[in-house]
Amino acid sequence: MFSPAVENLVAQLTRLPGVGTRTAQRLAFHILQRPKPEALALAQAIQEVKERVRFCRECGNLTEEELCGICLDARRDHGLICVVEQPVDLISLERTHEYRGLYHVLGGALSPLDGVEPEDLRIDELLRRVERNGVQEVVLATNPNMTGEATAAFLADRLRNRVRVTRLASGLPVGGDLEYADEVTLGRALAGRREM
Ligand SMILES: [Zn+2]
Repeated sequence: MFSPAVENLVAQLTRLPGVGTRTAQRLAFHILQRPKPEALALAQAIQEVKERVRFCRECGNLTEEELCGICLDARRDHGLICVVEQPVDLISLERTHEYRGLYHVLGGALSPLDGVEPEDLRIDELLRRVERNGVQEVVLATNPNMTGEATAAFLADRLRNRVRVTRLASGLPVGGDLEYADEVTLGRALAGRREM
């Protein structure tokens, strides 16, 4: 319908989460209408994150260095690790200002139906961290949905005899994502975490 170049841009945009064909077309036409430097700034920003940003060697958070700022922060409690699915969940928890420990970003949740097995997540790295460091408690803050709960149960089984394992308190919207929980609810869930 459009030129091959436009079709290609629409196809690339459709691969983004939550972007359907209609939205992709709207975005493509918006990009076409903007001045060239502005449109290319977007392309360059994408190139830069792919070149510069990597995963923290210790926790899996996004960083431009070997270790992320949280892992390097000596004022944080290094005996406490909060396990989340994605970096965006870490940001939600940081917004509550209730948590002063470290994190471990799994990179997803267990979902055998979608082909996500334990070896696809940073689970071995978590077990090694717990064994290596003086970790006292692991807070499981995977999402309160089916895959998140399954992941928490799996991790609790692996960790229980080595360290104190807790789970965020209920009160979070069931089936939802931490990403969309408000700070107050999330702060309360963190404060009221229970043994697992
Ligand atoms: Zn880190």
